[in-house]
Amino acid sequence: MILEEDVEKLKGVGPKTAAVLKKYGIHKVRDFLYNLPRNYENYVAPTSIADLRPGKVVIKGTIDSLSSRRARRRNLSVTEGTIRDKTGAVKVVWFNQSYRLKQFTPGKEYYFAGDYELKNGRFSLISPSSAEISDVDPSGGLSPIYVAHGALKSNDFRRLIRASKPIFAEIPDMLPSVKPETRRKALFYAHFPSSGKMIQKARDYLAYEELFELILAAKLNRRENEKLKAMAIPFTLEKIRDFLQLLPFKLTGAQKKAAWDIFQDMEKPTPMNRLLQGDVGSGKTMVAALAAYEAILAGHQVAILAPTAILASQHFATISQLLAPLGIEVALLTGATKKKPELKSQIKSGKINLVIGTHALLTDDTEFSDLALVIIDEQHRFGVEQRQKLALKSPKGLAPHLLTMTATPIPRSLQLTVFGDLDVSILNEMPVGRQPVNTTIITEVETKEKLYRKMQEILTLKPDAKSHGKKAHGQQIYWICKAIEDKNGNLGSEITSAKARAKKLASAFPQQTVEFLHGKMKPAEKDAVMERFAAGEIDILVSTTVVEVGVDVPNATLMVIENAESYGLAQLHQLRGRVGRGSSAAYCYLLTSSDLAPSRRLRELEKSNDGFHLAEVDLKLRGPGEIYGALQHGALDLRIASLSDTKLIAKAQKDVIEFLQNPENMLKYKELMNGIAKYQQITTLN
Ligand code: ADP
Ligand code: MG
Repeated sequence: MILEEDVEKLKGVGPKTAAVLKKYGIHKVRDFLYNLPRNYENYVAPTSIADLRPGKVVIKGTIDSLSSRRARRRNLSVTEGTIRDKTGAVKVVWFNQSYRLKQFTPGKEYYFAGDYELKNGRFSLISPSSAEISDVDPSGGLSPIYVAHGALKSNDFRRLIRASKPIFAEIPDMLPSVKPETRRKALFYAHFPSSGKMIQKARDYLAYEELFELILAAKLNRRENEKLKAMAIPFTLEKIRDFLQLLPFKLTGAQKKAAWDIFQDMEKPTPMNRLLQGDVGSGKTMVAALAAYEAILAGHQVAILAPTAILASQHFATISQLLAPLGIEVALLTGATKKKPELKSQIKSGKINLVIGTHALLTDDTEFSDLALVIIDEQHRFGVEQRQKLALKSPKGLAPHLLTMTATPIPRSLQLTVFGDLDVSILNEMPVGRQPVNTTIITEVETKEKLYRKMQEILTLKPDAKSHGKKAHGQQIYWICKAIEDKNGNLGSEITSAKARAKKLASAFPQQTVEFLHGKMKPAEKDAVMERFAAGEIDILVSTTVVEVGVDVPNATLMVIENAESYGLAQLHQLRGRVGRGSSAAYCYLLTSSDLAPSRRLRELEKSNDGFHLAEVDLKLRGPGEIYGALQHGALDLRIASLSDTKLIAKAQKDVIEFLQNPENMLKYKELMNGIAKYQQITTLN
């Protein structure tokens, strides 16, 4: 199997080159062939040097008098020389590319493509790309450009791939749903394109192959999950009904549906693997509490994992208020928890029914006697290993049921691909009376007048009806800053730190209590500030993004996000979700420091409160890797496919289903199984 061989097998790759390649993740021949060009240079129809006009040009000539020097300013290396053809000579300059010195053989002809422009009073060819004549297909004139990996530059990759040409004949087909040799041809034309059309065809196939693998991986994960055993938890209608009677509100239809989905999953002897997806404020915690209650009624333990101490404490407060009166032992375990060993022995003995915690839950010495359900809030904040660690804490060789929750709505295309192995419940209905947040973009210049007036108004409004803060005089305000404090001016003048902002606001609103909160504070200090804010003792809370997740203060009705342009759309939407949780009108001001027209991101946010719509927009604007940052860091680095290509996704989806219908396919297409191993890591939990 040539593709499985070590890269050192390749012609021209010795131990030294292999070491560099491996450092950049290219271990096998397969990885090498799938290291596709970043782009292509078109060397078609070179111009004679005598006829050069300023702008983008292609020339064909020899190069001499190459030398490198360091520019005095900015620590730049400058490599210069002369390119000649029969009609004349032209100066060439490269910046920070001193390897060019060794690249060219004197007297030999090369192609060059770059900008011909005036530099320091003289027309030169600036930082052109180059190719050997023999590298370029004369009909199309195209030459691939590879991303440099350390000492290996684009032309090294071209040299190596050229030496590997004979290997292409050995590339086996991988997918049953395409014509024979499609893969071989696609890879070949990706590296040795004869025309733009061939490149497109190659990319179309490779994108399809990638999606096929991704979707297949997800489906196989699901199958594997179905092979695991879990504790079957019987559904107890009566008890759940009694419990719901105790609540001060009725569940939304979406909450009922989600809870029902979960109860049905947990009744099965295979582990649930469900994602509960709901915009901020849609009531996920309530659904989690119901699931936990059900598992505890059946005599088991439950763990809830939250990404921050504040959030864990808040879940603890909400959930113990619900469950403690029913005789359920609820405990909080965070880094700040005192008497940890005692608590851990109570968890181990089974005295604690429900433990809510942060990463502190994941340590090896946290053992359970009978963990049957794991709930992970804001699941994208945890890595695969962390999630797996919790899953492994279930004793007796059983896997726990798993409920993950996220407020980041997952676009449909991602659901079908990356998260295809999860069952999904969606809370697409807000509790009654939930307010959309009025969002406005404002510039720094407008700040004082417009914004301060609005703030003054909010601060003197009657506290919200849902406020649990007994001490509030008026409604409350969040002011979000990018940075904690100024570091010797390193932050640049436009970013006002939380510290400086708190000072300014304190003097602008002398009657009010202004305090400041940030991620570097000790958890106990953070919690203390947050509790005082929730109690209504603080009027304006200046904070970094630590308030982003989950925190619930219904009396806070206005939020200012400073340097709004520096955040991603999903994060802005999450932040904004901290307000609009009561029954009063809510406001969000996106403060931009620049005079430029506001970005598309901010304008979309101004227009819409719909997390799903915003997630789709975000996917288009940024690509999937960034949205699900922690989860797929590096893992979901799609080479070619675009997750917004819904047509191609639908086709791959259909073909995968067909593929799986024939069990023999798994044996027949071994190569495919090798390829998908890396994707299986992304969402698997076992
Ligand atoms: P999420 O975690 O989805 O952002 P929460 O679970 O924190 O939302 O719920 C937000 C607020 O709405 C909480 O104060 C909660 O008590 C309240 N809530 C939850 N479900 C309902 C409901 N069905 N009707 C009214 N209020 C609800
Ligand atoms: Mg929440």
